[in-house]
Amino acid sequence: MADTVRVRIAPSPTGTLHIGNVRAGLFNWLFARRMGGVFILRIDDTDAARSKPEYEENIKASFRWLGMDWDEGPDIGGPFGPYRQSERMDRYLTAAERLLAEGKAFRCWCTAEELEASRQAAARRKEAPRYDGRCLNLTDADRAKFESEGRKAAIRFRLPEGPPVIVDDLIRGRVEMPRGMLDHFIIVRSDGKPVYNFCTALDEADHRITHVIRGDDHLSNTPKQMLVMEALGITPPRYAHLPQILGIDKARLSKRHGAQGVLELRDEGFLPEAVLNFLALLGWSYDDKTELFTPAELKASFSLDRVGKAPAVFDETKLLWMNGQYIRNGPAERIEADLRARIAAAHGALPAAGDAAYVGRVIALLRESLKTLGEIGPLSEFFFRDEVVWEDEAKARLAGWPRAAEILAAVTGIVKDTSPFTPEALEAAFRAKAESMGLKFKELVHPARFATTGRVAGPSLFHALEVLGRDRCLARLASAAKLPPA
Ligand code: GLU
Repeated sequence: MADTVRVRIAPSPTGTLHIGNVRAGLFNWLFARRMGGVFILRIDDTDAARSKPEYEENIKASFRWLGMDWDEGPDIGGPFGPYRQSERMDRYLTAAERLLAEGKAFRCWCTAEELEASRQAAARRKEAPRYDGRCLNLTDADRAKFESEGRKAAIRFRLPEGPPVIVDDLIRGRVEMPRGMLDHFIIVRSDGKPVYNFCTALDEADHRITHVIRGDDHLSNTPKQMLVMEALGITPPRYAHLPQILGIDKARLSKRHGAQGVLELRDEGFLPEAVLNFLALLGWSYDDKTELFTPAELKASFSLDRVGKAPAVFDETKLLWMNGQYIRNGPAERIEADLRARIAAAHGALPAAGDAAYVGRVIALLRESLKTLGEIGPLSEFFFRDEVVWEDEAKARLAGWPRAAEILAAVTGIVKDTSPFTPEALEAAFRAKAESMGLKFKELVHPARFATTGRVAGPSLFHALEVLGRDRCLARLASAAKLPPA
C-alpha cells in the first residue's frame, strides 16, 4: 500500500502571511485533501530575532479564515511534533554533531571580515562567491589558536564530490545542479543557530513529509536540503516547485492586492471562497476554461499534474470579478450579516441606518454590483443621509444641464404621481415624460440621478428611487431645484 501523503506549509512568522505562501499552502492542502493525506502546519521560526508570536497568530488566522484546516501543527500537536523549529533546536544540533563526528561537516572559524574579503576577491576574478574551504585544512594548533582568540566556529556541511545533484521535480521535471554551483555551506552559524536548509531537511524527515510543494524561489535550496538528507541517510521526499506569481505587468506583485496580507483582503471585503478560487488558478487549471470552483470542487479536482511551469499572473481585476460573483451568489445570510456590519460601521450614527428593513433593501439593491463587501460603505452613503452629499462633478453637471429646472420639475411630478412606486412604473413614466418633452430618456434620467443621489453613477436609478422612497426623493428634488445654475 502506498504511503499516506503528508505535506506541509512552513511559513516563517516574520511578517503577515503573504499571497505566495497562501497559494503554496492552498496547493498543499488541496493535494492532501484530494489524496486523503495529512496537511501539516510548521512554523519556520529559526530566525528568533525576526520571529514574532503575533505573526504566527496571523498565519493561523489567515489559514483558518480561508477554511484551510491543518491536521498537525504547533497548536494542535500531532504524532511527530513539535512543529515549531524553535522547539527542535536540540534535534538540529545533535544532527550537526553527528555530521561532525562522521567527517561530513567541519568547523569553520573564518570571521565575517575574512569571508567578505574572500567574496570580494572572487568578485574581482569574476567568479561566483564560494567558500574557499580554508578551514578544511586547519591543524590542531590553528584551531587552538582561534579558540584562544575567542573566535566562535560555525559548522559547515562538507560538500562531497560527485555528479550534479538531481531534483526530479513533479512540476519542473529533471533539474540538475552541478556541485560547482554549491559550496561547503553553513549549517550552524557561529552564534550556534542552525540554518533553514539544514533544519528543513531534518523537519521533512521527522515529520515524514512525502511531498514538498513550495514556491520555485526555493528550487536552488533543494539540492542543499537533499545533500543534507543524503549525508544523514534520509530518503528525500518528492519535490514540486510552484511557478512564480507575477503582477499583471509581468513584474513583481503589485502593492495593492498581491502584496497584501490575507487578513487585509478579508477586511477589504473579499470572501474566503473567492480568494481560494482565485489562488487555486494561480498555476493550476482544471480544463483551461472553467473559472469558478467551490472549495469542495477544488478539493475534489486538484492535481499536481495540472500545475504549469509558466509564471502565474496575479490579475486584480479578475480577483475583483470573482469576488463579485461570490458576493452575488454566495451564502446570502453570511454576506448580508457582513454587509449590515459594514453599514453600521460606516453610517451607524445616521438615523436611517437603524431601520433594519430599510438597510435590508439597500443591501439587496447594492449587493448586485459590489466587487468587495467594503464598497458597501461609500456606495450606500446616499441612502442614509438626510441631505444629499454632493460629488462636485454631479453638482457641476446638474448646474450646466440644459433645461435643468424644467427637468427637475417634471421628475418631481413623476415621483409625486407614480403609483405603485416601483422601478417598472417609474421607468415607464420617465420614458413617457421624456418623449412628451422632446428629450432623450437619458436626458431625464441623469439629472434625476444627480438630484436624488448627489452622484454621477450608481445602481439602477429606478431601483434606487424605490428604496429611497417617495418622500426622500421629493425632499432631495426640492433641494436640488434650489441650487444655483451655472
Ligand atoms: N520558511 C520558508 C518560507 O516561508 C519555507 C520554505 C519551504 O517550504 O521549505 O519560504
